[in-house]
Amino acid sequence: MATKTVPEITLKNGATIPQIGFGTLSVPPDRNASPENTAKTAEVVGVALELGYRHIDTAQMYGNERGVGQGIAASGIRREQLYVTSKLGNGQHRPDSVRRSFDETLQKLGLDYLDLFLIHWPLPTLYEGDYVSTWKAMTGLLADGRVRNVGVSNFQPAHLRRIIAETGVTPVVNQIEVHPCFNNDAARSASASHGIAVEAWSPLGQGKLLDDAVIGDLAASKGKASAQIILRWHIQHGHIVFPKSMHPERMRENLDLFDFELSPVEVASIDALDKGEAGRIGPNPDTFDWIPSGATPTPTVKS
Ligand code: NAD
Repeated sequence: MATKTVPEITLKNGATIPQIGFGTLSVPPDRNASPENTAKTAEVVGVALELGYRHIDTAQMYGNERGVGQGIAASGIRREQLYVTSKLGNGQHRPDSVRRSFDETLQKLGLDYLDLFLIHWPLPTLYEGDYVSTWKAMTGLLADGRVRNVGVSNFQPAHLRRIIAETGVTPVVNQIEVHPCFNNDAARSASASHGIAVEAWSPLGQGKLLDDAVIGDLAASKGKASAQIILRWHIQHGHIVFPKSMHPERMRENLDLFDFELSPVEVASIDALDKGEAGRIGPNPDTFDWIPSGATPTPTVKS
């Protein structure tokens, strides 16, 4: 099975994480946790596990943790063979909310522990700019063993510097937007300088890069799909990736990256597609302040 060939990345605390996972943003297409959507998510996650994925990336804000949990339960795969990540919702940054919503995440997933829990966005313009208290509450969750690793997502260099300086605890991963049109060099190199592994979200640029001529030529010359060329570029850069697709053939293709290599010149030709800030697809973490409806930040709770 393809899963045997997925490398493990060693994090700075010595723990390991499979370099390829399955992304579940928009599985199913909206964030509504209706019974129909939950059943569909369970079905898609079941297919991913059947195809050999052992690492699943979800988030409180995706509205699909229950479906992810049902897919895992139905698979019969032993818990210790799986790697499950979730992320703190933007409305849950107060320390009490971190703890309460983490409990809800475990309950929805039907799991005793998470492998990785991330602050989804730093939200520097909300919560009086206090993402440090949020990070302290995240690290506090490690004590009872119900989460094995904690990290961050969308943290810019200054956000990383501040939480490390003020708490002395370095996240093990930073999950950030990275794809050939947006190398995100500043956040990648800041992460590397602290020994933080980079997880590249939207690794395929949400599918928008698949028609690029450079990628297409490389795909043709190697007899591979464009998606495989892009994902191989990520693998050779050491990024952890979790492409998302609901089509079994594409899901299979996205896991099948280990019978070819890109030469240094080929890697450089993809590096050169970077458009800097103009290539960013998602929101800018310095200004992003979206809170899902019904999850307004509550007044500060001292703890
Ligand atoms: P992606 O780059 O994985 O692209 C997904 C799209 O690419 C799919 O909708 C599909 O249309 C297409 N696609 C996938 N495989 C293909 C193939 N083999 N051939 C042709 N087309 C293919 O985009 P994404 O879903 O935004 O990102 C992946 C994961 O990253 C998400 O599911 C989620 O888990 C995570 N993510 C995290 C954040 C964050 O803020 N931390 C933000 C966005 C995404």
